[in-house]
Amino acid sequence: MRKYVIMGVQGSGKGTQSGLLAADLDLVHISVGDIFRWNVVNHTKLGAQVRRTMAKGELVSDDLAEGVVRDRLTQHDWNYGFIIDGFPRNQPQAEFFLESYDIDGVIHLELPDSEVRRRVLARRLCSGCGMDYNLIDSNPQLAGTCDSCGGDLVIREDDTEEALAVRLREYHQKTNPVLDIFRRKEYVVSVDARGSKDEVQQSIRKYLGLPDYHPADPAVG
Ligand code: ADP
Ligand code: ZN
Repeated sequence: MRKYVIMGVQGSGKGTQSGLLAADLDLVHISVGDIFRWNVVNHTKLGAQVRRTMAKGELVSDDLAEGVVRDRLTQHDWNYGFIIDGFPRNQPQAEFFLESYDIDGVIHLELPDSEVRRRVLARRLCSGCGMDYNLIDSNPQLAGTCDSCGGDLVIREDDTEEALAVRLREYHQKTNPVLDIFRRKEYVVSVDARGSKDEVQQSIRKYLGLPDYHPADPAVG
């Protein structure tokens, strides 16, 4: 059983790296942002509560974020463990989390803010299946269309210059202190997130003492 937290500034590749790790190690990938976005798209009560806050780039209330995490983790479908992305984001959430779960490691993806802007503003999201594209290095075969489901690619509501500035500020003010809390417990491995997705994944494996990463043949998949 392995339990990891992945942290990093916007666009550092938390979703991508969690997905790769989860697929190989049979972990459940829990993205708090994805859960909120699902609720917004499906017009749930929770979606209505968080939509405006998210679009502005601000953090939603701790109660709502903690509720999502608690509900997801009480499903107990994570026999081999989980990797959680987007939580905890501030000190109260970190305290809640550490009281409830013991974790094996925190992966910290490091990326300078200048690179964040470049990546986030080039990001597109499939409105059908939620797959992430980046017009810098992962263009779809047909512009504006998802390779995997044919859905329309859209810009995330919070991937604007304005909302990004708020999100970065929230990150540096509120989420950096969480890293300090984890560091005191010696859980944290810091990984340079500037490389390609395969390079970053390989570094994560190395730092966590996991078996090497073998990327799928790009010609095939
Ligand atoms: P990013 O890390 O790129 O900002 P996410 O998809 O992880 O994107 O999160 C998107 C938004 O969802 C955040 O800006 C915030 O409004 C909300 N959110 C996600 N996780 C949390 C959390 N733990 N606490 C409060 N709000 C959150
Ligand atoms: Zn799709």
